[in-house]
Amino acid sequence: MLTITLKPGKEKSLLRRHPWVFASAIDRIEGKPEEKAKSGATAVVQSSSGQFLARAAYSPKSQIRARAWSFDQNEPIDHALIKRRIRNALAYRNLSVRDTDAIRLIFGEADGFPGLVVDWYAGKQGTLVCQFQSAGVEAWKTPIVQALMSETGCPNVYERSDASVREREGLPLVTGVLAGDEPGAETHVVENGVRYAVDIKHGHKTGFYIDQRDNRRLVMEQAAGRHVLNCFCYTGGFSLAALKGGAASVLSIDSSADALETGKRNMALNGFDSNLAEWRDADVFKTLRALREQGRTFDLIVLDPPKFASSPDHVERAARAYKDINLLGMQLLREGGLLFTYSCSGAISADLFQKIVAGAVNDARVDARIVRRLSAGADHPMTTSFPEGEYLKGLMLQKP
Ligand code: SAH
Repeated sequence: MLTITLKPGKEKSLLRRHPWVFASAIDRIEGKPEEKAKSGATAVVQSSSGQFLARAAYSPKSQIRARAWSFDQNEPIDHALIKRRIRNALAYRNLSVRDTDAIRLIFGEADGFPGLVVDWYAGKQGTLVCQFQSAGVEAWKTPIVQALMSETGCPNVYERSDASVREREGLPLVTGVLAGDEPGAETHVVENGVRYAVDIKHGHKTGFYIDQRDNRRLVMEQAAGRHVLNCFCYTGGFSLAALKGGAASVLSIDSSADALETGKRNMALNGFDSNLAEWRDADVFKTLRALREQGRTFDLIVLDPPKFASSPDHVERAARAYKDINLLGMQLLREGGLLFTYSCSGAISADLFQKIVAGAVNDARVDARIVRRLSAGADHPMTTSFPEGEYLKGLMLQKP
């Protein structure tokens, strides 16, 4: 058995049940040479005084050198643990998620599977889409896939392990069928009564921004009779929700022509009047400035940009970008209008995001009510021990 012994004082985060062991915290690794070379091998992690801390998956190439599977000395890491955790994750979704068949079934650390994402589209006839983003879950891929199929009753499993974080684990980027049928060009899901086409094989992430479900619903509830601007619209998630809610018009902007095509296709799938929607293939920063020059205003604006800060080093630059679009957003908003603004940068806390937005509101020389603080849906659970899981944060603001 591989044993990882930490430097004195470095046991604190594991004692708080935070699952990551950084290379810099390790004093020594003992075991057979073949174990030490094995990516994803199970190791016992102990304090400098020999106290058991966790069983963890060893990742020889990553800065996160081990990820805890369990803090319980009596819990073996085996097929039964995998089954138990999948069953538990499924029970939690049954309790907390409704009105959709696009569900995040496994959200990494928060579900006891560090580095694993599983999104389930279109029910038992649909597809489970997996991203194995760490050495540990990669090593247990086959039993994980088998347990996913037996617990959900869905026989189709597709792998989208093409996120660059895999390279930090020394793992190659791979995609392809793991079980059952290959997904077609379009998988149809229905979220809050809206039909969306999802491209599992080529779309962003696993094909759809499942995390924004509750926020799309909020927009739906507020859209009636309003002129809506949806920035960074991707395949039109918020645009379709606004139309379902009775929006008077929706202008959607994205720099991906393919995503916009799917957005238009989604309009047709729902039978919405195409005259109500304009899809613009353009840069949001430039377009917001142009709209301001033209004196255009909107009743409801959504700003859901990509991750501007991909690491803590980029926070300052990202903050400027967030401030810029939020300033423009506030200027384009009519009195009484609503701004839904988001950041999915893990490196920017909810607190910092609110400060950035406050700076933008101030520069626009207006006031803003915080109607609500926003986050990802319940199928992206937040846990007390892993604050990194809270990557998506947002604010619903009203211009008085
Ligand atoms: N709101 C969407 C998800 C947005 S993802 C949903 O609910 O489904 C971010 C999107 O921003 C991507 O589609 C990407 O193509 C787009 N994007 C990134 N930079 C951009 C820019 N400068 N101008 C316009 N679109 C941009």
